[in-house]
Amino acid sequence: MKQIIDQFIADVQQRNQHEPEFMQAVREVAETVIPYIVKHEIYHGKNILMRMAEPERVVSFRVPWIDDTGEIRVNRGYRIEMNSAIGPYKGGLRFHESVNLSVLKFLAFEQVFKNALTTLPMGGGKGGADFNPKGKSDGEVMRFCQSFMTELFRHIGPNRDIPAGDIGVGGREIGYMFGQYKRLKNEFTGVLTGKGISWGGSMIRPEATGYGAVYFANNMLATRSNQLEGKQVVISGSGNVAQYAAEKCIQLGAKVLTLSDSSGYVYDPEGLDVGKMAFVMDLKNNKRDRISAYADTYPNVSFHAGKRPWEVPCDVAFPCATQNELDQKDAKQLAYNGCFCIIEGANMPSTPKAIKVFHKHQMLFAPGKASNAGGVAVSGLEIAQNSLRYSWTREEVDERLQAIMTDIHDSCVTHGKEGDHVNYEKGANIAAFVKVADAMLAQGVV
Ligand code: NDP
Repeated sequence: MKQIIDQFIADVQQRNQHEPEFMQAVREVAETVIPYIVKHEIYHGKNILMRMAEPERVVSFRVPWIDDTGEIRVNRGYRIEMNSAIGPYKGGLRFHESVNLSVLKFLAFEQVFKNALTTLPMGGGKGGADFNPKGKSDGEVMRFCQSFMTELFRHIGPNRDIPAGDIGVGGREIGYMFGQYKRLKNEFTGVLTGKGISWGGSMIRPEATGYGAVYFANNMLATRSNQLEGKQVVISGSGNVAQYAAEKCIQLGAKVLTLSDSSGYVYDPEGLDVGKMAFVMDLKNNKRDRISAYADTYPNVSFHAGKRPWEVPCDVAFPCATQNELDQKDAKQLAYNGCFCIIEGANMPSTPKAIKVFHKHQMLFAPGKASNAGGVAVSGLEIAQNSLRYSWTREEVDERLQAIMTDIHDSCVTHGKEGDHVNYEKGANIAAFVKVADAMLAQGVV
């Protein structure tokens, strides 16, 4: 088996040189899915996983814009349309200086599997630009978004490709891009998700990824007759996903001890509460300031510059910042400190070696493609509401989100059960693979 997997990886590697993040994501899937393919004859001779590892289309384009001093700046924009076997391409846009082809292809590849797990009819895609919105004025961000959409609009559409937010792309950026699309096409359609409530957005969309991850955590804990209430929780990040994961943990009676950003983490031994969360949301979403200001404001809180929060003893950990932010050393430290449950809010935050540590210690480990699928699931519900020209209530959307997270959890258990233990990584990969692969087989060699 190892030989088959290694040969497959070598073949993919050969035509994707210098794309480490993409290869990491492909390898992680191949290691669990190839043994399944070998056992199931309908997939033999179809080269199905190789087809999945090749994007249907990659668009790369120049994004020129003018900054506040009048200087002309240039960034590179992308859209990866990875797989449309089960629905139109769907996936976020990331604006961050680290964006490149490898990062977006890994995210698009993961997105195909994630979207399949949601039970909704969505293919997978991802896009973005190497643009850093940090420190830019609203005017600069608007001009960038307008220039970005002036090219992207040709490639997307409500029945073709429906982008959303991701790192660096929140409500403000979606608004500017939606405005430009509408202007260029003279159409008011659900071409982007994560829209404002008064112009086609869905209730619970901003909360959905974080809330969904917490619902998934409770489903996992229930398999060990446990729950989040009373647990000590460590969270990384302080953006969209981290904020709402923290909010829901607090609502469910867990104690949230940390948040972080790229400059370091804050440790609050008394735990965050509703008032402190309001401070964090204002700090990050309106003032666009650093998380260290939390430690300057509240007593007994410490700021740990340049460090990640995994050294803080906890029961449950939610990595919610970015890829490869939790390595083997961190995983060993978490296990040593008694942490027994890791739920990925971010995409691929744990390195392959960290995941091996989780499995070795039989910790409950939820891969992002399963546990952070709540965001795209509610994006799917936003598309449905836009098509119906109707809005569901907060309670209706939340109920659907909870049901979807339970479905995803159950699919992972079905395909990932190994004796008494559930390998959620294997379960998620196989459940999603079966859905996408069967659709691809039915549609012929396209
Ligand atoms: P945001 O931009 O709102 O927040 C990102 C957070 O991560 C910030 O606190 C940021 O700190 C931190 N961060 C970013 N890069 C690094 C880094 N290299 N090292 C340490 N911290 C870093 O993004 P989201 O919350 O939307 O996304 C977070 C993760 O969740 C991403 O992996 C994303 O792909 C994933 N995700 C998001 C979904 C969504 O609905 N938004 C859906 C599914 C997955 P700083 O401000 O200092 O940069």
